Amino acid sequence: MRVLLLSLALLAPAAALAGPPEPAGPAELHCGQLFDARSGRLLGPHTVQVRDGHIAAVRPGIPEAPAAGAVDLRGHACMPGWTDLHVHLEDQSSPQSYAEGFRLDPVDYAFRSVGYAEKTLLAGFTSVRDLGGDVAPRLRDAIAQGRVRGPRIFAAGRSIATTGGHADPTNGWNHLLSDLHGPPGPADGVVDSVDGARQAVRQRYKEGSDLIKITATGGVLSYARSGDAPQFTDDEVRAVVETARDYGYRVAAHAHGAEGMKRAIRAGVTSIEHGTYMDEEAMRLIKRHGTWYIPTIHAGRFVADKAKIDGYFPEVVRPKAARIGALIQETAGKAYRNGVKIAFGTDMGVGPHGDNAREFIYMVEAGIPAAVALQAATIRAAEVLGVDDQGVLEAGKRADILAVPGDPLADINVVMDVAFVMKDGVVYRAPDTP
Ligand SMILES: [Zn+2]
Repeated sequence: MRVLLLSLALLAPAAALAGPPEPAGPAELHCGQLFDARSGRLLGPHTVQVRDGHIAAVRPGIPEAPAAGAVDLRGHACMPGWTDLHVHLEDQSSPQSYAEGFRLDPVDYAFRSVGYAEKTLLAGFTSVRDLGGDVAPRLRDAIAQGRVRGPRIFAAGRSIATTGGHADPTNGWNHLLSDLHGPPGPADGVVDSVDGARQAVRQRYKEGSDLIKITATGGVLSYARSGDAPQFTDDEVRAVVETARDYGYRVAAHAHGAEGMKRAIRAGVTSIEHGTYMDEEAMRLIKRHGTWYIPTIHAGRFVADKAKIDGYFPEVVRPKAARIGALIQETAGKAYRNGVKIAFGTDMGVGPHGDNAREFIYMVEAGIPAAVALQAATIRAAEVLGVDDQGVLEAGKRADILAVPGDPLADINVVMDVAFVMKDGVVYRAPDTP
């Protein structure tokens, strides 16, 4: 019973707010099936033992009857906690987003992020890469300290863009505001030279980022006309990647257009995000350089859908949302068939936080096998992050474990019905107990 009592205690808000989480007690999970992220196969009944936040043992077989003190997941498939490699936890798009940018303070966004982080964790995502925003590095620490319930965060901090580029925070400002603020610089994440590129990376280091995000081409939701034009010169993007390397950073590159994408791949970024207009040459390059592709189909479908609603987006955004958004799913399928390495990301914060797992369903619709999609969010995601302590259920790894009912390889829709979530050995969601 110890495990159940522990889980109930942790589900109570008071316990969550009281400070650092109680140390996770030992636990034993009896799983009807176990997803082996290395082979992509379901292995049948397994027992997983957890101690001190880590997996102590994984062995075939479970007792015939529910055992006292164990978590009964016999009707479920257990698998490593998922990682969403592309989220923005500080916000969620709505028709009010553009106006709110002028009204809300950073602290307002910080409060919003608390609920978004919890939804993300309870949906089965025990890790995320947050690709852009001031809140994430602090939210990462608050979660690690047990002050807020959420996934483990790998935070980029502010994105790095060029003047007028996809992450220029002053896009769309009127002259009065622009004059008051002055031209944005590397501290704001805006660079227009090799020196500026270096300074921006070092500024992220100073602020405690875990990785670097650049916007290699235009984007859909920025208040600017082009969603796909290249926005860094070759030497600027190379300066970002080389400086990032000095600090042990990996670089995630937002890119819709092929030219900006190619410059980023050649410069040595770790991942291409969205990749909408990836042509044959870009696919050859991305394979040759071993660059990861993170499609974010969810965001594409979401914005294409909202573009149909009058007034949802500003008129400068609407045609980009309709055109680019609709293409991403097709590109993802084509890239998979061409042997491009795909990892899992949603760009959540465009769509609603907590809906992340729907990306699996969209990946399968695009022609990606369910097993490959699940690997993309587990073992492959760990490779993209450059960590070796998560993404597989094996002794010694972090106890990040989730369970879904039934067989996710036969019916991918069960990913929307996560019944059990454990992160670092702490239970955050448990199946209804009799
Ligand atoms: Zn994004």
